[in-house]
Amino acid sequence: MSQYDFDLFVIGGGSGGVRAGRIAAGHGARVAVAEEYRYGGTCVIRGCVPKKLLVYGSAFGHYFEDAAAFGWTAPPASFDWPTMIAAKDREIGRLETIYRGLFENAGAKTFDGRATLKDAHTVVINDRAVTADKILIATGGHPVKPAVPGAELMITSNEAFHLKAMPKRIIIIGGGYIACEFAGIFNGFGAGVTQLYRGEQILRGFDHDIRGHLAGELVKSGIDLRLKTDVARLEKQGNALLVHLTDGNTMEADAVMAATGRQPNTNGLGLEAVGVKTDAEGAVVVNEYSRSSVENIYAVGDVTNRMNLTPVAIREGHAFADTVFGKKPRSMDHANVPAAVFSQPPVGTIGLSEDDARKQYGEIDVYRTTFRPLKATVSGGEGRVMMKLVVDARSDRVVGAHMVGDDAGEIIQGLAIAIKAGATKADFDATVGVHPTAAEEFVTLREKVREPVKA
Ligand code: NDP
Repeated sequence: MSQYDFDLFVIGGGSGGVRAGRIAAGHGARVAVAEEYRYGGTCVIRGCVPKKLLVYGSAFGHYFEDAAAFGWTAPPASFDWPTMIAAKDREIGRLETIYRGLFENAGAKTFDGRATLKDAHTVVINDRAVTADKILIATGGHPVKPAVPGAELMITSNEAFHLKAMPKRIIIIGGGYIACEFAGIFNGFGAGVTQLYRGEQILRGFDHDIRGHLAGELVKSGIDLRLKTDVARLEKQGNALLVHLTDGNTMEADAVMAATGRQPNTNGLGLEAVGVKTDAEGAVVVNEYSRSSVENIYAVGDVTNRMNLTPVAIREGHAFADTVFGKKPRSMDHANVPAAVFSQPPVGTIGLSEDDARKQYGEIDVYRTTFRPLKATVSGGEGRVMMKLVVDARSDRVVGAHMVGDDAGEIIQGLAIAIKAGATKADFDATVGVHPTAAEEFVTLREKVREPVKA
């Protein structure tokens, strides 16, 4: 019998923690988990899932606009925010129950409360001390606001999901995933949206063509996107907010949303006292097996700030459980992880941007197309799709695929299998398209847009 109450104590009932705990229990471990808020974590409770429901909801705004050209006579559409939020909350409640159930059905014990470390084998939850052989930190992250006067008046994505009323005018700060996604959500629902980004172009780190193309599409969709512009300070003005911009202009808004990044939840966990090393951002430093600087303490997901995506946290958690409790040591492969930005239109991406591929491979071939989607030929919509393939010229392997356009996330998931498997451009060319789709363009790209460049 072990000297500890549990073989594994998981701190945090989000995607990574739940998967790790469930798999460890399946390997025979005695598992407990503590969650201070709601089971499901960021993704289920205040991230991916509610966000995607709002994306679906807001997209109807554009469908109604398109419908007339296809012969529909629809009454003037109106939108009720409380109905949308209530529907979203019902679904999140259902999922939360499922997540808690996943743990309990696996035979794990759940604790409702904040857990802190007392020593390397002792966790304290609501004054109760529990011991465990291994501890997994899966506490996720939280949004951060810029340090400007009046920042306390800003909301973040956490609050955006629970606003009592939809703001008629909203300013969204940031050029990353969350800013682009919420700009599309509020725009689709009919709010006046201004998106401010401090840098030259949104989506830093993405392929440059994708960044430029998406920015153009956001503007076409009605978002007032202002680059090289930031908020200097804000103040209350009656029921509204007066926002002073760095370019000297002022704007009034009903809400200002900071989508300016997230930080790992490590404060107050007791990590320092136990000797768990964190980096400058507060992320738990781990090796490829998600082990921290303390031998029996591990961490997965956003709290490690490796690649802050739900499926990555889940894989990290699964690999941890297999390694430590399943006698199958394996690490998460962080290469070629596909991702989507659920902006409107969405972005799908896998592999290297053109610039990164050039740095890594020297000689690359680039294939790119932009086109008007078939639907727009009747609806009259001005939106254009962009697709791009980046190919290592020496091996002919496709090392990057990128898209802006409807269903980009769905399409890139399929391409991700091919790219992960090492498909070459010749394999893409040998694949027959599905007609008429946008996706078929990925297998009919023939013209190189730039000649190979020597590194
Ligand atoms: P990101 O890091 O993606 O973007 C943050 C944005 O805010 C950047 O444009 C950044 O600018 C800007 N910024 C940062 N600090 C300031 C500041 N002080 N003042 C003004 N602007 C600032 O973070 P998000 O919050 O959008 O999302 C966090 C992470 O969550 C993502 O990186 C992603 O990993 C994950 N996520 C994934 C989603 C998905 O898979 N669809 C959806 C949502 C989130 P700069 O570029 O100049 O640094």
